[in-house]
Amino acid sequence: MICKNCGIEITQDNKYPSDFRYCSSCGTERRAYLLYRKNTLISLRSMNLESKIIQTKYLIKQTINEFGLEHVYISYSGGKDSTVLSHIAKQLYPDILHIFANTTNEYPETLQHIRWEKEENNTNLITVIPKDAYGNAWTFKRVVETYGYPMFSKRIANAIRTYQHALSDTTKQHSIDYINRNFKKYEKYKELPIS
Ligand SMILES: [Zn+2]
Repeated sequence: MICKNCGIEITQDNKYPSDFRYCSSCGTERRAYLLYRKNTLISLRSMNLESKIIQTKYLIKQTINEFGLEHVYISYSGGKDSTVLSHIAKQLYPDILHIFANTTNEYPETLQHIRWEKEENNTNLITVIPKDAYGNAWTFKRVVETYGYPMFSKRIANAIRTYQHALSDTTKQHSIDYINRNFKKYEKYKELPIS
């Protein structure tokens, strides 16, 4: 087992107790970083709406100044978060590019809203869809048939995937230990097509 961050071998002496993916120094560093993020989030959330909009516009302007308008786009899902971002960004840069990644697992109302956004609301929006090397679309159905369902959460699905793909008995046992330690109630799903 090697540390996810620095790549050194994790031993009994240098392991980080509450997260086996990191060595003790990277684990400690990560904990401090997560605490800093948590506190930043708390202070940002406590601002009033007007200040939040000012802060958001400031960040958008900084980004455009740093990278240039032609190197920036809004990852647009049609949901409420990216719609708010789009609304604010378009006040500053009306023609900013929006990219909608169609997962092929979208509600009809979402697709209708995307169409409205492009055709009626004059948003500079393009739709992309993932394709394989042969040009065939990676539809959601095909992903599930090939890899399994993305169930519960990314972390849990990833742990189950690691278990299923483990090459040695030791790795297999480590991943079972990890699942039992972090989310025991999902242990019973570990043989199902989840990825
Ligand atoms: Zn490390």
